Amino acid sequence: MRVALLLPPCGDMPGAFAAMWETVSPVLGDADTVALWLPGSGQEVRVELSALPEAVSHVVYGKAQGCVLPEQAIRWTEGLYSRFRPDLLLCYGSIAGQELAVRLSARLGCPCLTQIFTLEKGGEALLAKKKVCSSYLTWESASSTFPAVIALQKRRVMPVGDAVLCVPKHSIKSEEIPWPTERPDYLLGRESLESTEQNPLETAQLLLVGGKGLGNKVACDKLRLLAQRWGAALAWSRQAAINGFGPLDAVVGQSGVIAAPKRCITFGVSGAAAFLAGVEAAERLYAVNTDLDAPIFRCCDAGIVADAEAVIDLLLQKEKV
Ligand SMILES: Cc1cc2nc3c(=O)[nH]c(=O)nc-3n(C[C@H](O)[C@H](O)[C@H](O)COP(=O)(O)OP(=O)(O)OC[C@H]3O[C@@H](n4cnc5c(N)ncnc54)[C@H](O)[C@@H]3O)c2cc1C
Repeated sequence: MRVALLLPPCGDMPGAFAAMWETVSPVLGDADTVALWLPGSGQEVRVELSALPEAVSHVVYGKAQGCVLPEQAIRWTEGLYSRFRPDLLLCYGSIAGQELAVRLSARLGCPCLTQIFTLEKGGEALLAKKKVCSSYLTWESASSTFPAVIALQKRRVMPVGDAVLCVPKHSIKSEEIPWPTERPDYLLGRESLESTEQNPLETAQLLLVGGKGLGNKVACDKLRLLAQRWGAALAWSRQAAINGFGPLDAVVGQSGVIAAPKRCITFGVSGAAAFLAGVEAAERLYAVNTDLDAPIFRCCDAGIVADAEAVIDLLLQKEKV
């Protein structure tokens, strides 16, 4: 099987590569070869000559500069696809990566799966899995139709050490295939909007979350004080924000921020599926709720059945966790 990994044009390329490699390696056999397609500038690739896995036989650079137009990305990728004819193309897991995978498969007339987090072999078939219904269910597809285009789960980037991607060794063929420079004729003009900063909740290591069960503004103020003392980020459930306990841009969940802290402590949050979507990537989830049957207790690492404000009072007397 020939496999191509299409990396994002910018951003955390080593992290994206590590996630792609972890996903694709279970389906690679001894004779399979992997090509890396790097639309972005090769300069962003970290240097460590011995780090590329052995199956990688070919690296292609596009050296796209500045703003990458979707039409240019699809033209470049389509050109590579018809030249190298991989059996499986794995695209990066951003919205642009999902879009590219779907459009490319429509043009090539081959199957496409998006938001995939695991690939396995099932005899001749490729088993692909993705999370659905706010990650409560796992959807599995078995297909033996190749070629196929697959986009990784959104935001699937793995933390990696200093260097994973590298300048290829002499045994790896490396070439540059020029990035298309002509603009599509439907593009009449382009303007840049001021970029918005990343929401700090996305990168917080310690996250406290207030829910509707906090019940009153005094309890909310105590939670704010606790977050300040502990140097923690503070977020809210949607019901809490709707009740005026905190700002709407600090809501975590399906319609808010997706956080991935090391530790997350919720106070008076029931644990609705739409909320959990925002904290399920937390390494450790702790909950305080008066109701033992609250759904949050079914998915947290540890919980306290108690009044949230009383627990906050106790924690305010403690040093940082
Ligand atoms: C399309 C859609 C998208 C949504 N997106 C989001 C989203 O992004 N984020 C989000 O949060 N929600 C979202 N929601 C809403 C979500 O479904 C829930 O309604 C919401 O998360 C509930 O917030 P809550 O847990 O604070 O409130 P509740 O569900 O009302 O829970 C309050 C909890 O507090 C407990 N409690 C009561 N008193 C105390 C006390 N004194 N001490 C401790 N615990 C106490 C109760 O037992 C209860 O479990 C979305 C809904 C929809 C339909």
